[in-house]
Amino acid sequence: LASSELKPEPSVITAGSLTVGGGHVGVIAGPCSVESEDQIVATAFAVKKSGASALRGGAFKPRTSPYSFQGMKEEGLKLLATARDQTDLAVVTEVVSPDDVELVSKYADVLQIGARNMQNYRLLEAAGKSPCAVLLKRGPSATIDEWLLAAEYILDAGNPNVMLCERGIRTFESHTRFTLPLASAPYVQERTHLPIVMDPSHGTGHASLVPAMSRASIAAGADGLIIEVHPNPDKALSDGYQSLNFDQFAETMAGCQKIAAAM
Ligand code: PEP
Ligand code: MN
Repeated sequence: LASSELKPEPSVITAGSLTVGGGHVGVIAGPCSVESEDQIVATAFAVKKSGASALRGGAFKPRTSPYSFQGMKEEGLKLLATARDQTDLAVVTEVVSPDDVELVSKYADVLQIGARNMQNYRLLEAAGKSPCAVLLKRGPSATIDEWLLAAEYILDAGNPNVMLCERGIRTFESHTRFTLPLASAPYVQERTHLPIVMDPSHGTGHASLVPAMSRASIAAGADGLIIEVHPNPDKALSDGYQSLNFDQFAETMAGCQKIAAAM
């Protein structure tokens, strides 16, 4: 169902204020985790002002350590909905369990399936029955074929609104958190009609590398970006080291707009 042989024209996916695919480039920005009303609402206004078209924020956090901050859960979902009410930005947020799909779908415009859950087939099927669009992250050790077959589970369950997200893979290189394969964008666009969103935040793990990899992703023809932005990255409860502050995000967006204009 994902194949471009079946459907040669690219799919355009719209979820509230967010449109990606077929020449529409969407930028999803916001904190790794929702932490408070002030944090999420201030971030929503700031990223919107710089040109983002959707707000991200994790309420259910899949953390490597069980002792790390696990997210605000439903309380966090409510704060995301508050931020959407005030800014009109679509909400992108992760769901980690099939049992939570119904709950998260009440608040979200786009369900994020995280890298760690790319092959959680019961979760993919449940997301396939949700009225929300789905952002399917690539597993850090998954091949592109495995990733596309994971997308197939969502499509086959009846949800046509699937966006792929390249968030970097594990390689021998340890200077960056993951290795962000830019070629995924044009390759996936050849193979499928689904839009592809690049994640330079998780893809590099370093805030200083995010602007360049954002511009590079746009130059590579990506249909969208998902970028971690926090009012005070040093104080973030998760992924602060790879999060941009508001000024850095504004500059990153300006850089991307220059690349897009030159294409
Ligand atoms: C996230 O987006 O904050 C996240 C946990 O991403 P990933 O699933 O790509 O690690
Ligand atoms: Mn994160």
